[in-house]
Amino acid sequence: MKIFEPSRAIYRKKTSRIKICEFCNLKNIKKQESKFLSGKYWRVLVNLYPYMDGNLMLIPKRHIIDTNELNSDEKAEFFEVLEKTKNKLGKIFKTKDFNIGLNLGRNAGASIEHLHWQIIPRKFKIENASNIFADIQIMTMLPGEFKKILDAEINLRNN
Ligand SMILES: [Zn+2]
Repeated sequence: MKIFEPSRAIYRKKTSRIKICEFCNLKNIKKQESKFLSGKYWRVLVNLYPYMDGNLMLIPKRHIIDTNELNSDEKAEFFEVLEKTKNKLGKIFKTKDFNIGLNLGRNAGASIEHLHWQIIPRKFKIENASNIFADIQIMTMLPGEFKKILDAEINLRNN
């Protein structure tokens, strides 16, 4: 019996350094998720670091980092969840205009590896703004406040 196993020690050191993905940490995202808008394969989350008011995110339940990893069920459900989310945001923010976008990879600005689409309702146009997904922040409400508004809207329409 081998007592000393150096490769195992290296493995342990490696795995202990691996951080749990923020979007796979269910305890973490519980307060962000709109269960009503989420589907079987997709979750809808309030962005805690929003680009603008009403910023929601669509994330696959599986830890996927590229669109080419999505299976046919996930692809099929994506647009269902997107439409439902768009409709709800449209009612809350009284608009039909949206930014819907995806930053794929760190060089493209994704801070979390786990695939996440951003959806932002737009009530007005910001002139001379070509970098909507990079720097612009026009905030009038905190993410927690927005989550309350979203939940209230869902309760209102579905009871
Ligand atoms: Zn993940």
